[in-house]
Amino acid sequence: MTSKPVYQNLELQPIGGQWRAGSASRNLDVTDPFTGEQLLSLPMATREDLDEAYRKAAQAQVEWAAMGPTARGQIMRRAVEIFDERKDEIVDWLIRESGSTRIKAQIEWGAARSITLESASLPGRCHGRILPTDVPGKESRVYRAPLGVIGVISPWNFPLHLSARSVSPALALGNAVVIKPASDTPVTGGLLLARIFEEAGLPAGVLSVVVGAGSEIGDAFVEHPIPSFISFTGSTPVGRNIGRIASGGEHLKHVALELGGNSPFVVLADADVDAAVNAAVVGKFLHQGQICMAINRIIVEQPLLEEFTRRYVERVKALPYGDPSKPETVVGPVINARQLDGLKDKIRLAQEEGATLLVGGEPQGNVMPPHVFGNVTADMEIAREEIFGPLVGIQSARDAAHALELANSTEYGLSSTVFTRDISKGVAFAQGIRAGMTHVNDMPVNDEPNAPFGGEKNSGLGRFNGDWAIEEFTTDHWITVQHAPRPYPF
Ligand code: NAP
Ligand code: MG
Repeated sequence: MTSKPVYQNLELQPIGGQWRAGSASRNLDVTDPFTGEQLLSLPMATREDLDEAYRKAAQAQVEWAAMGPTARGQIMRRAVEIFDERKDEIVDWLIRESGSTRIKAQIEWGAARSITLESASLPGRCHGRILPTDVPGKESRVYRAPLGVIGVISPWNFPLHLSARSVSPALALGNAVVIKPASDTPVTGGLLLARIFEEAGLPAGVLSVVVGAGSEIGDAFVEHPIPSFISFTGSTPVGRNIGRIASGGEHLKHVALELGGNSPFVVLADADVDAAVNAAVVGKFLHQGQICMAINRIIVEQPLLEEFTRRYVERVKALPYGDPSKPETVVGPVINARQLDGLKDKIRLAQEEGATLLVGGEPQGNVMPPHVFGNVTADMEIAREEIFGPLVGIQSARDAAHALELANSTEYGLSSTVFTRDISKGVAFAQGIRAGMTHVNDMPVNDEPNAPFGGEKNSGLGRFNGDWAIEEFTTDHWITVQHAPRPYPF
């Protein structure tokens, strides 16, 4: 479908309305995690670049917010057309920069496209209220206003979508945005979106991208006085720190924190085993398990344990892994050698702690073959910690009550799953899980543009998508009008 020339000069960043090189003397090298090939080397942004991006964003936001809802919606719709016209180009970048399999890259392209399409409707759905009042002669109104400038920090695993799910609604609702993409994925996490929105007609300066290491410009990005909202998606330790800096007293900014997960996948004794096995394969191994909602613990009620495990192991052993660009590949590379080393440690530790290796294999480059462990208990590291890779452990539950107790024995509360043929039992079980999202008879990996996405406990704060995005990316302004002179008590 791509008949247009592909985007050029991606070593430049849109900073305050101008595409230019970052001012740092150091370059960021962007590599393909599968081939090791260098894709791009780009000069990084400095704090001065960041300051310029925020200041220009504050200026550009005023006119942008003043544009009518139809005009802003139209730019979103035009961006959706560009997503379609450039699908191959976007998918190709996701494969090469983030090690996405072709299957995952297409899913991610679809998710980013969907939230942008949903965002086209947000300007018209954003409305205020007239409230009843006890004061004679008064009119009490609530106006909904954009927040102003929003800072977005995104991770490398679903870089395009996890930036887009903040950027598209925030822009549509009349805000300006500055993105700091992850250092592994500056193109798919920011630069591509900026090109798309520019081509769609977004006025210059409304969207900037600053590429730099979180450890170097992260604090300045969050502490800068201009952004009144920081939308962060990433790990719990970094998120906690951002919450502390952004709203911990010194600064009082709104924050959305979408953090780590440890999704339980519960199979009750009356479950459809085939359906459960199929869901557990995709829910664990899509994007080599590097998804916040990915299955982290499989919990099976005793009577089904043997059968579920046998069939699951059989399926997992047959999964094709390796080159992510091949259409049949299911498990591609993890993002970098550091992540791979962490996974090797987890495998070693699981065995030391007494788990039984049921499926395994040696890594090839950054590709870690799927691993399944049996005899896992709740106290083992592989059950307690977020894995973020193609490894999983299976735990046994004595009964449904024990399964629920195991499911909840985690500091996280993002997504979760329960399989049962009894829908009422499934929904009651789901209500017993402390999490933002629970799916009965499906995998935990689900994200729809109109449904509330977010976590409880240490998985974060806030909700994305649809009506919830309107809540997040706007603020209420109570404005009253006293029509007749008010009789004051003195
Ligand atoms: P990460 O290390 O926390 O990095 C995420 C982002 O934060 C990157 O852009 C990173 O920049 C930046 N960053 C790092 N240190 C910073 C600092 N001190 N101040 C400001 N920004 C800083 O997470 P990750 O390893 O990329 O992603 C994996 C984690 O994200 C997992 O825990 C996963 O569960 C979570 N996640 C959650 C969701 C969700 O929706 N709940 C979705 C996806 C992923 P650099 O790359 O430059 O360091
Ligand atoms: Mg890379």
